[in-house]
Amino acid sequence: EHYLQNIRAKNSELNALLSVYDEEALERAALVDGKLQAGSAGKLAGMVVSIKDVLCYQDHPLQCGSEILNGFESQFNATAVQRLLDEDAIIIGRNNCDEFAMGSSNENSAFGPVRNADNPNRVPGGSSGGSAVAVQADMCAVSLGTDTGGSVRQPASFCGILGLKPTYSRISRHGLAAYASTFDTIGVFAHHVADMALVMEVIAGEDANDSTVSRQVVPAYSQQLEVSSKKKIAYIKETIDNDALNGDVKEAFLSKIEALKADGHTVEEVSFPLMEYALPTYYILTTAEASSNLSRYDGVRFGHRSTEAKNLEEMYKKSRAEGFGEEVLKRILLGTAVLSASYHDAYYLKAQKVRRMIQSALNELLENYDFVAMPTAPTTAFELGAKTENSMEMYLADLFTVQASVAGVPAISVPVGRDQDGMSIGLQLITKAFDEAKLLAFSNYLL
Ligand code: GLN
Repeated sequence: EHYLQNIRAKNSELNALLSVYDEEALERAALVDGKLQAGSAGKLAGMVVSIKDVLCYQDHPLQCGSEILNGFESQFNATAVQRLLDEDAIIIGRNNCDEFAMGSSNENSAFGPVRNADNPNRVPGGSSGGSAVAVQADMCAVSLGTDTGGSVRQPASFCGILGLKPTYSRISRHGLAAYASTFDTIGVFAHHVADMALVMEVIAGEDANDSTVSRQVVPAYSQQLEVSSKKKIAYIKETIDNDALNGDVKEAFLSKIEALKADGHTVEEVSFPLMEYALPTYYILTTAEASSNLSRYDGVRFGHRSTEAKNLEEMYKKSRAEGFGEEVLKRILLGTAVLSASYHDAYYLKAQKVRRMIQSALNELLENYDFVAMPTAPTTAFELGAKTENSMEMYLADLFTVQASVAGVPAISVPVGRDQDGMSIGLQLITKAFDEAKLLAFSNYLL
């Protein structure tokens, strides 16, 4: 009732939820309450959750923020969603997002932009902007988003909450509409580390429906939230001496660094010369993968079909032209170009090699340090419309988040302050693959 009340009061302005499952949620709450009385309730009993519009929830709409999936309903549950339900979480709604998770401001949704609850003239970040705002505005306790290049961490930073991108392959992608399959991860938004840890514990781990999921045992994250030793932390010179970095963000970051030193942790500045290649590598590889993944939306199998076509080929073309938004079309074209016979070696193959170099260099750094720290994003939440005319500027919003995505390692954004306009600033911590427990515990200490 509490969350539904907030949704009723705020969602028409903020546009964070595309569907609200009010009756269903109340029914489930009553059911879970009964289980609680009987002592048979699951681990997430009563936890109210919302899920990004790229995750399948059986018999509920799924549109990936796109016209092309008009009228589509999921026929099964994503593994992560099924595991939430099995542990008695209550799903309250479906989160708005950038179309097919492509964007950094949630202005690419076919359903209109999401607004930042701290200032409705500002963006919430993207692509999981709706999931971030749903938690920020107290419309649910926890939400699931997806992070391919920063889509959980950057909106968490813009909205003043926690956002975790786990290790690639930690959580099953079964039932997650693919954007870039070698980067896509399901991530979690929350106010409290304990909630996030509990959800991670439930949704992570081996899955017969996704052979890419790691078989490593899932630790009891929620039981390991104490930090008992001093840590060694590196921060990257190239992110601090960077023209794109806003002054307030820099100041907040460096003052946190000083506080950590004062607390007895070892914090050192290191150089990571490959940093500047992370963004181009990310955009070459993800557009390539997207162009292939999105070929399935052909007007035949799912959603929108053009009524204008006179033959099969025209039907494909018109359905896609009508159904996809501008950013998605642009990325399909880019991806098709970098995979084409004449450019494949020069762009796609080369980017794969650079990806491996970035991965090795980051892993080497993480051999010597517990964490790599940097600002989550170069700026705080910007005004709606401020970057929609200039793709390059929009892509720069991911400047600091793509590195962990390219390397496949886990990273979290933790709120550490506010700028002069009162907008939130996030600090990103990156650690070794499968060390989420360490990341969660240290975030708990930082908060
Ligand atoms: N903003 C980045 C992009 O547009 C990241 C998106 C994501 O992580 N899904 O690709």
